[in-house]
Amino acid sequence: MATFNETANVYFGDQALREAMPMMKKLGTKALIVTGQHVAASSMMEDLKNLLCEFGFGYFVYDEIAGEPTVDMIEKGIKEYNDGGCDFCIGIGGGSPMDSAKAISFFVKNAGLIVSYNGTKLTGSRTGVVCIPTTAGTGSETTKFVVITDTESGVKMLLKGDVLIPDIAVINPSYTKGAPKSITAATGMDALTHAVEAYTSKKAMPLTDPLAIDAVKKIMKYLPEAYENPYDYEARSAMAVAAFEAGVCINNSSVTLVHGMSRPIGAMFHVSHGLSNAMLLKDCLSFALDGAFERFADLGRAVGVAKESDSDVAIAEKFISAIQELCAIIEIPTLREYGIDSGTFLELRDKMAFDALVSGSPANTRKPVTIEDMKKIYKRVIEE
Ligand SMILES: [Zn+2]
Repeated sequence: MATFNETANVYFGDQALREAMPMMKKLGTKALIVTGQHVAASSMMEDLKNLLCEFGFGYFVYDEIAGEPTVDMIEKGIKEYNDGGCDFCIGIGGGSPMDSAKAISFFVKNAGLIVSYNGTKLTGSRTGVVCIPTTAGTGSETTKFVVITDTESGVKMLLKGDVLIPDIAVINPSYTKGAPKSITAATGMDALTHAVEAYTSKKAMPLTDPLAIDAVKKIMKYLPEAYENPYDYEARSAMAVAAFEAGVCINNSSVTLVHGMSRPIGAMFHVSHGLSNAMLLKDCLSFALDGAFERFADLGRAVGVAKESDSDVAIAEKFISAIQELCAIIEIPTLREYGIDSGTFLELRDKMAFDALVSGSPANTRKPVTIEDMKKIYKRVIEE
């Protein structure tokens, strides 16, 4: 049986934050604002603080989410929440602050070590949580997933459970304007990976298929524009919609091989999530292709790379070429160009392949994936 879930209250557009305030009243009276230092010093944060005051909320700012969240960052956030007398959370920023807010909202209500929840389905209660994305990428504002790195074991833990789906998403595309090119590229490729993986996943479903196709079309068209012209509202708006759609897709249809293999690279070599996905995309999709020619061909037709006389196989291959071209336009580096030492990478590939398999994501690919297959793909990618 397949169920379909997404964030229940989604506010979109330039006035989204103001419009969300009455609904936020239902969550609590004092917010822990979870963010990073860059957003903490931005005009977006000023907007948020001003509106919270205008609507009679108290708040406390926890701005120590530096990069992708670790167990330590979440534990500190739980302490700040309790010390500050907060009763709900607001995550504002990219995927990391949003994931952190979701995790804090859960762990303030649930005892036990964070690592003990790895691999389990999170259930139970949490405090209210609002997500405000300032990048177009992870879709965390609508997903049941949180990724937290356990620095002790070097594992990026994927925590999941419907309880982690935020109560409110506030999407104002203007908040993504002016993001640096490298962030636009990496987060945009994360969203593309979500849409492609969900559409070609074993768990793909009729309710997510149209969203996945629309997201892929929008990203292939608008990511280069958002990359070249960071203040182009049309491009930023299309990317914000696509990232949300792609988030809904993975929430219900899951990711597959790329995400499975990407998390260990992030944990071992500190490559950002979207970038490690982008670096793996061509080789993982090429591997997955013969399990789902028809599905990949659908995507190729949607983005306009197909001729009428082409076979599904030919269109699927053209789709992968189009993704490669996109990666070139937005200057995605190879692992070696990024500065990763191939000797160290190859030494760690057994552990990475094992961690990828254990995450469960590769098993959603529409063909069997073994540890040996993943070791071969890691080798191919580091040799490029
Ligand atoms: Zn992702």
